[in-house]
Amino acid sequence: MRQSQLFIPTLREVPADADVKSHQLLLRAGFIRQNAAGIYSFLPLGKKVLHKIENIVREEMNRAGSQEMMMPALQLAELWQESGRWYSYGPELMRLKDRHERDFALGATHEEVITSIVRDEVKSYKKLPLNLYQIQTKFRDEKRPRFGLLRGREFIMKDAYSFHDKQESLDETYETMKDAYSAIFSRCGLNFRAVLADSGAIGGKDNHEFMVLSDIGEDLIAYSTESDFAANIEMAPVLLAEQHSSEERLELEKVETKQAKSIEEVSKFLNISSDKIIKSLLYIADEHPVLVLVRGDHEVNEIKLKNELSATDVVLATEEEAQKWLNTVPGSIGPVSVTSDVKIIADQAVPFMVNAVCGANEAGFHYVNVNPKRDFEYSQTADLRFVVQGDLSPDGKGNIVFAKGIEVGHVFKLGKVYSEPMKAAYLDENGKNQIMSMGCYGIGVSRTLAAVAEENNDDKGLIWPLSITPFDVHLIAVNSKNAEQAALSDELYDQMKNDGFDCLYDDRPERAGVKFADSDLIGLPIRVMVGKRAGEGIVEVKIRKSGESFEVPVSELISFIRQEWDKLSN
Ligand code: ATP
Ligand code: MG
Repeated sequence: MRQSQLFIPTLREVPADADVKSHQLLLRAGFIRQNAAGIYSFLPLGKKVLHKIENIVREEMNRAGSQEMMMPALQLAELWQESGRWYSYGPELMRLKDRHERDFALGATHEEVITSIVRDEVKSYKKLPLNLYQIQTKFRDEKRPRFGLLRGREFIMKDAYSFHDKQESLDETYETMKDAYSAIFSRCGLNFRAVLADSGAIGGKDNHEFMVLSDIGEDLIAYSTESDFAANIEMAPVLLAEQHSSEERLELEKVETKQAKSIEEVSKFLNISSDKIIKSLLYIADEHPVLVLVRGDHEVNEIKLKNELSATDVVLATEEEAQKWLNTVPGSIGPVSVTSDVKIIADQAVPFMVNAVCGANEAGFHYVNVNPKRDFEYSQTADLRFVVQGDLSPDGKGNIVFAKGIEVGHVFKLGKVYSEPMKAAYLDENGKNQIMSMGCYGIGVSRTLAAVAEENNDDKGLIWPLSITPFDVHLIAVNSKNAEQAALSDELYDQMKNDGFDCLYDDRPERAGVKFADSDLIGLPIRVMVGKRAGEGIVEVKIRKSGESFEVPVSELISFIRQEWDKLSN
């Protein structure tokens, strides 16, 4: 394509309201334009990249046995009322009325529509399992649309839904989808992890988010340095590293600690490290008082606590509640001589503490030389804390490190959450009516584009991976007014097209500096510059990513480009 004819409105200035790299660069390089908050147009370059990502998604989904279809964006409210989400989804769901005053929603997701189709058409176990997907525009009236395509109000999603008679069938499809997702994001050149996520209100334990490791990510993930273990911080289990100490158990003593209350203040006051302190927090779990103990350098993970206690709600006790149950105030709470019916539960590391320090349930005092079991009892121990960096990975391989992540995909076993209320039933082998099980699998296609841009750039512009680059090669006639250069450029353009390269040809009558700056900004993997040595049949080839440049005779150009392309693809 000749650049003189292509619509690529580049910008020199960084747009004022774009605060992340991908957003700035996609605007500046002329890939997208904003139409309203969180609503974007894809200009020709952006559309080409989007198309390539969609095709990777298509290839892998088809390979995995999913079938492409297309559902309407405009959805009847009745369907959402059947699932109950008309009432629970909240203001993110864009709602509207037609001319007959009938309620509609603009699809934020398509569980309801697909379930209604499948329940009407599939009546027998013989037609199951079924796996269907679409690539389509979604609408969510996000509270804070931001970071350009990363969180839009109108965006492109690939959403797949699977239907099953047996749990094993759902399990199998779930694994197949996970593999397909790994293939898709690898092909897009992303550094990602499949992260075990919290299933929240929907429940079910099989729920993975595909996260691209990125400093601008909104989620914090814990992953292993050596294995593929990765989990949301809330979900990551702690592997107990038993540390038996031979330290002599000293006599329990109450000491005055004056104003020192927090772990930091107490450790300073007593000149001890925070891992010698038993952090004691009074929680109210479904109205019952529970004293939770963790080591001073650890933090209580309330999700783990909630699960361990099988409670629906755990909250830190108020001052009044601390007074009522322990006759003291937060800041001096401890487990020694707790006589009331307060349950005491300890993190698994606490039993290994020797000569520790804890609050004395008396303002201004702490106990020192506290030894678990000898000086206080607890009803149970469990993994109650957040992982920290450096912890052993739960699978025993490597150590935990933290990173921020951008969620680009999500796979989820829905079970019967939609099929039950919407009555998606089939007849089993025995002619009995059964409810189908479902899985759902989403990929943020436009978000993936932005995630790639976010992770592949430098101070000059974008650097596209080969798999989704808008064009393969950027051919530049350095001085298009020079007849020799223009003629050779035209010739090479035809040759590259014939050899199967998708070539962007900068034939514009612009200054060389402008062309090079635009070329860096757009970020095609390989650039060919036809300049001063055109007469000798020599051109310059520059690799966008490494910045390396080479003088190459025209006769060897195609094979040289092939060779560099292969190097880049490894
Ligand atoms: P998030 O937690 O980021 O709001 P979500 O959990 O609501 O996302 P899903 O309902 O799981 O998202 O949607 C499937 C995929 O669609 C997500 O993994 C993400 O890649 C993409 N996606 C979701 N919301 C947006 C958005 N506002 N803009 C762009 N992509 C989005
Ligand atoms: Mg999600």
